[in-house]
Amino acid sequence: MATESATESVAEAAREPEDPSACDVLILGASMAGIDVLYHLRRRGAVGRRLKVIVVDRQPAHGYIPLVQERLCARIDRAASELETRTIIDGDPNARFVLGEVESFDPERRAVTLRGGEVLRGAYVVVALGSVVTPPPGLPGRERALGYKFADGFERSTARLEQALRGEGPGQDAPRFVVVGGGISGVELAGDLAHLAARRPDGWRVPQVTLVQGADRLLPSMTRRAGTLAARHLKRQGVELRLGARVVAIREGEVVLRPKGAGPGESASGPYREGERAGEQTLACAGVYWAGGVRPAPALQRLNLPLTEDGWLKVGPTLQCFPEARPRLPEIFACGDAARIVGGDASAPWPTMQRAIECLWQADLVARNILQLERYTPGGESTYPPPLTPHVLREDFFHGVSVGARSMIVYGRVAIELGAWAVWFRRFLMRQYFRRYRGLRRA
Ligand SMILES: Cc1cc2nc3c(=O)[nH]c(=O)nc-3n(C[C@H](O)[C@H](O)[C@H](O)COP(=O)(O)OP(=O)(O)OC[C@H]3O[C@@H](n4cnc5c(N)ncnc54)[C@H](O)[C@@H]3O)c2cc1C
Repeated sequence: MATESATESVAEAAREPEDPSACDVLILGASMAGIDVLYHLRRRGAVGRRLKVIVVDRQPAHGYIPLVQERLCARIDRAASELETRTIIDGDPNARFVLGEVESFDPERRAVTLRGGEVLRGAYVVVALGSVVTPPPGLPGRERALGYKFADGFERSTARLEQALRGEGPGQDAPRFVVVGGGISGVELAGDLAHLAARRPDGWRVPQVTLVQGADRLLPSMTRRAGTLAARHLKRQGVELRLGARVVAIREGEVVLRPKGAGPGESASGPYREGERAGEQTLACAGVYWAGGVRPAPALQRLNLPLTEDGWLKVGPTLQCFPEARPRLPEIFACGDAARIVGGDASAPWPTMQRAIECLWQADLVARNILQLERYTPGGESTYPPPLTPHVLREDFFHGVSVGARSMIVYGRVAIELGAWAVWFRRFLMRQYFRRYRGLRRA
């Protein structure tokens, strides 16, 4: 890159070849968006292959998130459904994986500080620190909810499931697990927990499964028909559906629900006990899985980058964090779940999907735009930064939704039942996804 910007010396300092903490491209986050930026840099010609890249993540390996519920329920082999991120990145001669926790970022110096004090600098910085799936801050007992998106929560969640189903927990009854959230993730997890009745590892008991959903139907972001199909399949596989009910507290060994419109006159029955407050019910359970929507990764608040009102990184259509007409720091990008695009013709954030495919599209664009900046030569007609390519909005894409033994393909208004076909197809997609990164070793 030959910059004319005031930050030239910072960029050049970040490229100091002998300094192991400096690089051309510093990528924060190595999940679906982060590792894919590296992939696209390498496949877009000699300039991209020459760039020295550092990728930072707190996880050295990444379980395949779209099938995380199958991994949790041991329906697919856990080791075979994990990407060896560190090994793959370190296999690229011009890339290095750094295991660490991103603490803060100084955009002016393009310097990232890790927990423990290590500082890394990049001429370009890409933030791909994603999202978390956690209960809202005000929910009493939120720390008891079992997360399963990332390795730490996943290990705790699998340990709890195995302990309960192997009969090591208290009580002789089939243990109950509660899934909170009736969107795609909640439906899929409830389905896979229920599917343990048909297939499960030796020595496991069959769990009872309750799905709690605040809205009055499942899959509210999809058509009513898709929600109805999901509900029918879950019920047939033995899942208890609590629609129109909210979880108001998670306690040791139980969850507290408030059904919509419930008053003091309504008594609890079956496995439910009256709660301490009128209209509340408690349900004994071995664990509560939280699938109630994504929130910004906590680190995003500490990066000194523009944020939307709800805490996501605010980027322009070119995925730059400072996207004004002549951006002050054109070399800082964000993509994936962490980023919300604001600008272009729309005044509100673009309705991009927080999905794997969107991460891959955005990662490709970030790589292309970095290379456009990198190829800039001063002295021509245009000044630095040259105009970059904007993202193309795609509001929807095919959804494969598995519901235990059954599955559906949903696209727009169409929802087609497919037996177990989509379950197998999504495993095929996972293998293709892993194959994508094998070539990095030969970059
Ligand atoms: C349960 C579930 C099921 C899903 N199923 C599907 C599906 O079937 N199909 C689909 O298309 N999409 C699915 N998604 C969405 C998809 O997984 C996300 O869109 C995608 O993972 C986002 O990728 P990302 O790289 O932007 O961020 P994330 O996947 O959120 O990754 C962020 C990365 O940053 C790292 N990180 C965060 N903070 C720090 C820090 N401070 N220091 C160091 N490292 C840090 C994390 O370790 C992680 O590796 C699912 C999501 C969930 C939660």
